[in-house]
Amino acid sequence: MTDLPARRLLLVHAHPDDESINNGATMAKYAAEGARVTLVTCTRGEEGEVIPPGLAHLAPDREDRLGPHRVGELAAAMRELGVTDHRFLGGPGRFRDSGMMGVPQNHREGAFWGTPVDIAAAHLVEVVREVRPQVLVTYDPDGGYGHPDHIQAHRVAVRAADLAADPSYAPGLGAPHTIAKIYWNRVPRSAAEEGFAALRAATGTVFPGVAALEDVPGVVDDELVTTEIDGTPYADRKTAAMCAHATQITVRDGFFALSNNLGQPLFTREWYQLARGASGAPAGERETDLFAGVAA
Ligand SMILES: [Zn+2]
Repeated sequence: MTDLPARRLLLVHAHPDDESINNGATMAKYAAEGARVTLVTCTRGEEGEVIPPGLAHLAPDREDRLGPHRVGELAAAMRELGVTDHRFLGGPGRFRDSGMMGVPQNHREGAFWGTPVDIAAAHLVEVVREVRPQVLVTYDPDGGYGHPDHIQAHRVAVRAADLAADPSYAPGLGAPHTIAKIYWNRVPRSAAEEGFAALRAATGTVFPGVAALEDVPGVVDDELVTTEIDGTPYADRKTAAMCAHATQITVRDGFFALSNNLGQPLFTREWYQLARGASGAPAGERETDLFAGVAA
């Protein structure tokens, strides 16, 4: 434990690409500052749609080799962000992408959505007790936008935080550890509106259509956002990391699109809602550091 860096950040995500879209600038910033940044991705994203026609054969209804391919994309993205500690929950392929809500894949054997929370959380407890993060970042209880794997990632992350702190739980998984602060990924509504206004002003040169504001995960009223990370110095790294997820994301002119080819803002500021722990900012102000108020 003595050789751990002073600041330790754990992020729990559902699929490869979620981390770069939501937290790419944050991850690059803290990695560059010498913090330990640990990413745990719960599935390999096997059910994703494939954008490049030349890779369409990887799709789950064809060769079903998208998962291993996305492991490589994630590794490339982490190189762009300078993050060296990235893991799959329980190992690569342990839990499978469940697909969008309501599809038969939700109930496929091994699907993350159908896995009992405590079984998945046990794998994460081991990571928490090893890395001993002061800060955990994940989704809100709705997973940001209702995707089953995102909802499950939230449940597993919160459950693991509780279990990791409980001395009576699985002593063999390491010494108990309490995470000081837990955050949910957020986007303030005003920032989303500004981003879409900029995108619409640029339409014609960017993407054939524009996504709806409701398509952006985690949008909430501004007053719920407690924390804002200015990732502007890391915008290029975030963009490069998103480009590394080439089966899932197209980046163009400072905006991006998923497989539906509808443009969305690419945010270089990243926002959070403090869900557990004490704010390190003066009353009425947003934090500008996830570790604000945390003792090293
Ligand atoms: Zn996802």
